[in-house]
Amino acid sequence: MNNKKNMNSYGFINKIYDGVVEVFGLKEAKYGEMINFENYEKGIVFSLNKNNVNIVLLDDFQNLKQGQRCFCTNKVFEIPVGFELIGKILNSKGECLNIKNKLKIKKKDVIEKIAPGVMDRESVNEPLLTGIKSIDSMIPIGKGQRELIIGDRQTGKTTIALDTIINQKNKNVICIYVCIGQKISSLINVISKLKKYNCLDYTIIVAATASNSAAEQYIAPYTGCTIGEYFRDLGKDCLIIYDDLTKHAWAYRQISLLLKRPPGREAYPGDVFYLHSRLLERASKVNKFFLEKKKVFNKNNGTLTAFPIIETLEGDVTSFIPTNVISITDGQIFLDTNLFNSGIRPAINVGLSVSRVGGSAQYKIIKKLSGDIRIMLAQYRELESFSKFSSDLDIETKNQLQNGEKITFLMKQKPHNNYSIIELLLILLIIKNDFFIKIPVNQIEYFEEYIIKYVRSIKIEELISINDENIEFFLNEIINNFMIGSL
Ligand code: ATP
Ligand code: MG
Repeated sequence: MNNKKNMNSYGFINKIYDGVVEVFGLKEAKYGEMINFENYEKGIVFSLNKNNVNIVLLDDFQNLKQGQRCFCTNKVFEIPVGFELIGKILNSKGECLNIKNKLKIKKKDVIEKIAPGVMDRESVNEPLLTGIKSIDSMIPIGKGQRELIIGDRQTGKTTIALDTIINQKNKNVICIYVCIGQKISSLINVISKLKKYNCLDYTIIVAATASNSAAEQYIAPYTGCTIGEYFRDLGKDCLIIYDDLTKHAWAYRQISLLLKRPPGREAYPGDVFYLHSRLLERASKVNKFFLEKKKVFNKNNGTLTAFPIIETLEGDVTSFIPTNVISITDGQIFLDTNLFNSGIRPAINVGLSVSRVGGSAQYKIIKKLSGDIRIMLAQYRELESFSKFSSDLDIETKNQLQNGEKITFLMKQKPHNNYSIIELLLILLIIKNDFFIKIPVNQIEYFEEYIIKYVRSIKIEELISINDENIEFFLNEIINNFMIGSL
């Protein structure tokens, strides 16, 4: 009996592909189980077929040969989790890359998990501020939400994600940046920015670059998610960025095609929707009952907010992966190449961007003021395209166009120049109370720059809080005085 059991847990390599092997035997293998090879290489069971088992390899596979033996470990693949990981750069297996000695972490967790169910969740109602004016005002994001950042190459996707991480400084939010299939130079760029803005004391980086194997790129987001869930289940707030899921889908397609799975639309396998849905469903805001089940008695609820990034080709959001991820997430921030090239940065297309749940998490006063601005901007874009066909416009239309242009300029923002919520409110009041009408178009950007410099110099955050009843009056006075002084 014992002998038979042993036989079933052994197998031998039949075929070796690029990072994937086909194994005969292993009758006892389970989906997701870790498999050890004779030369200590490790792999994960990827698919169980009638006559063979496919395994994706996590280590170098140069030494593997046909006919070599492998055996079941009866363990699901696990990675280390814990506070020790903060500030570290990890690979997809959870091994630390930026310190010489191995981290000794006892606590481990599996990378594939079922997302919390309906009864375990609570609705999103706390804001997660990005520090980006147009997002915090018009596309508000809540803790526990999944917001997609979508756009062509080089349109500022990573910059938005990075700015959001930078904005979480001293806000008790742990951030995780998962790099999937990016160039090493892009990753170095991100790490140096995070270092420069002192974000590494609350950030974890999980890196699977283009030079890593497809298998490593495939598991990297799940690794990051498990680490994020660990913090969420302790009642903490966590933000995770998947940069980017297009390359994740490519890695998955590569593995599937090597294994001769039938290709479907755009040559992706049939289950590519499930690839992303099971990942993004794990982002959530869990309630106290869920935490109590895990023996965490905390006043706060745990949240895991996810920002998946998707790269499009020529703004085409109707191709396979973008449509899938748009339908899974709670909204999207759409970045437009034309806007980016015409100097309107961040190049957020307000008409095509939405946040389906964040509205309930927004500060009431910001919500009240930003509703009108969204409509004004949408009307401006429409008028602008019509006005190109006619030469003489009536004064009212001209004014509307000019105001729209000014609002667009007021919403421009340089990278890594985050705005606090009071600074944002100040900008919204400049628009709402028609202060901006008195300023010529070519001076509006300078005006904005100087008034922000001024409020930062008087440390406005220390003078008043956003919840103060008099805040509108107080800020109006500041703008008024500033304008009298500067005109
Ligand atoms: P990729 O497709 O290569 O990943 P991306 O969409 O992530 O690119 P970024 O790397 O974030 O784009 O930005 C591209 C360039 O645009 C960078 O040089 C960045 O400095 C610049 N940029 C991004 N946002 C802004 C902004 N708000 N103002 C000015 N420049 C910006
Ligand atoms: Mg990028």
